[in-house]
Amino acid sequence: MFNKKTIEDIEVGSKRVLVRVDFNVPLDEGIVTDDTRIQAALPTIKYLIDHDAKVILCSHLGRPKGQVVPELSLRPVAEHLGGLLEADVSFAEDCIGAEAKQAAEKLGDGDVLLLENTRFHAGEKANDADFAKELASLAELYVNDAFGTAHRAHASTVGVTEYLPAAAGYLMEKEIRYLGEALREPEHPFVAIMGGAKISDKIDVVKRLLEMADHLLVGGGLANTFLAASGYDLAESLVEDEALPTAREILEGAVDKLLLPVDLVVATEFAADAEKKTVPVDQIPSGWQALDIGEQTIELFKSKLEGAKLIVWNGPMGVFELQPFAQGTFAIAEAIAETEATSIIGGGDSAAAIRKAGLTDQISHVSTGGGASLEFMEGKTLPGVAALADKDS
Ligand code: ADP
Ligand code: MG
Repeated sequence: MFNKKTIEDIEVGSKRVLVRVDFNVPLDEGIVTDDTRIQAALPTIKYLIDHDAKVILCSHLGRPKGQVVPELSLRPVAEHLGGLLEADVSFAEDCIGAEAKQAAEKLGDGDVLLLENTRFHAGEKANDADFAKELASLAELYVNDAFGTAHRAHASTVGVTEYLPAAAGYLMEKEIRYLGEALREPEHPFVAIMGGAKISDKIDVVKRLLEMADHLLVGGGLANTFLAASGYDLAESLVEDEALPTAREILEGAVDKLLLPVDLVVATEFAADAEKKTVPVDQIPSGWQALDIGEQTIELFKSKLEGAKLIVWNGPMGVFELQPFAQGTFAIAEAIAETEATSIIGGGDSAAAIRKAGLTDQISHVSTGGGASLEFMEGKTLPGVAALADKDS
């Protein structure tokens, strides 16, 4: 149950509303190359415009480390957003201070202002009280729609809620509802799929999903470490030696639930033009590395997905960025899209993979949060959500 106030619970008309969005989008020479996150914030922004709010958007972009980094300016995002809204979006060159104040005060009902990158100030990540107060002073209400940053207690996600009535935007609500409701009382058969680079980032998610799911299918670099923990020689593959004892422990407790690859696509190098072949997991030639799951593994995993009622997927099955090693990831993506199951995808790279496969529309929910969705799947409370006002307050 989502028990936080949402924008529909607060009176926004003619009010200055500070909205924390996640506009941390990829830019190439001032052009937004993937606007998924901007699109995802539109329902909240449009609602506020339609209800005559004075909309003040703020976000971080990249890692400027508390300094002004011109390449990480949000100005191009203001232009892009203006195009999507077919309206003027004004821009303030600093998220606090005189210019921001003036710009905020100039707003008419239904106008939109985007503030410069909050992380140009060290106070943002430090959740500095003075910085948070300054930012909050621009507005009368606060809405958090930045699910992707909800796992961080920063000034613009948590600090400002000390000074302003705080509610959730539509995206925040949708993310928490989907992830939360699916995992609270999962429908069975529940099949979880995990992959990606490193197991150390994901051990707690692996453990939690193992508790809840009927099957956990593991691919990608994650599987390498589990395979090594089972005694196979992974040659030059990415294996996390420090994680081997934990991997062994998990395997012992979950022998029949956790499925590992039976064959792998191995290559002489981590490169698209490397020599490659598919081998059983016990026959990786020395000097080679595993970069994708093999055909037999794809079939095995697909057979477990058939008839599933709930599928949760985090982490690609291989190095999908390189076309010769993308087959496993895309085949699993297609298999998920074909099922009748409620399907939820979390993780930045997994979401990118599903977009690249053109299958986003066939998935019930593709989370916009990478780290946030992982922490949520671990069962952690997200500080950005906890800080919002309770529904009945
Ligand atoms: P997500 O962002 O979906 O949580 P991760 O960040 O954990 O996923 O992992 C994605 C990365 O894992 C991708 O860049 C991919 O290339 C890499 N990866 C997947 N399989 C392997 C592998 N076998 N060896 C090395 N890297 C891999
Ligand atoms: Mg990632």
